[in-house]
Amino acid sequence: TERMRVDFIANASHELRTPLASLLGFVETLQGPAREDKAAREHFLKIMVEQGRRMSRLIDDLLSLSRVEQHQHLQPTTHVDLVVIVRQVVESFSPLAPERHVKLILEAPDSLSVIGDRDELIRLAENLIGNAIKYGSLPDRETQVNIIVSQIDSEASLSVRDHGAGIPPEHIPRLTERFYRIDTNASRANGGTGLGLAIVKHISNRHQAQFLIESSPGLGSTFKLIFPSDRLLSA
Ligand code: ADP
Repeated sequence: TERMRVDFIANASHELRTPLASLLGFVETLQGPAREDKAAREHFLKIMVEQGRRMSRLIDDLLSLSRVEQHQHLQPTTHVDLVVIVRQVVESFSPLAPERHVKLILEAPDSLSVIGDRDELIRLAENLIGNAIKYGSLPDRETQVNIIVSQIDSEASLSVRDHGAGIPPEHIPRLTERFYRIDTNASRANGGTGLGLAIVKHISNRHQAQFLIESSPGLGSTFKLIFPSDRLLSA
């Protein structure tokens, strides 16, 4: 545990240091050589905003992870409607998905009640659907992401399936590690922090859910959560 903690601090510092060094570099350039160069100034300011946003996303995710970890052993007590939550998240992605030529398709009953933490379940659905759009989109044609909320016997499940490039099997067991990415540049280019699935895993643990990842390279991936029967209210 101590080793993991030390690695985590080193990784988090490194992730923050890169955009910070770039920001400081541009500030110095703007104070010096590019002071009077309007075109360069516009260009550098644009990069600086991007780097600042990257730091801000990273800090949001670090705080989110630490909040979930802090009360990991306190089970949620409120009844929430999983369908309302997922529908809201799907709607929040409606501007982004068409930009990536992704069609979001939601299949869900009218309602499905689970015992859970609303904000955490929103975060979880945002991370999974956001990833499916980021990594499931194809360069040359439109594709679909299927989001399915269902009740089988007394279990509630949420699955997010994309038809993107998929994930080679050797990576699957490590995807929920903090800062683990298959392709760091692709993750960064998509605004990723490498913490999304670690957050999902923690939220899933707190909800005593099962978190399953299945993927066939070339065909796409499915990320699925199964909430245990005793956490489900009779509908
Ligand atoms: P990131 O911020 O990099 O997206 P995540 O923790 O959400 O971090 O995901 C970790 C890595 O898992 C990603 O960098 C990507 O390589 C891989 N990944 C996540 N979701 C998918 C997906 N739907 N398809 C393919 N790869 C994925």
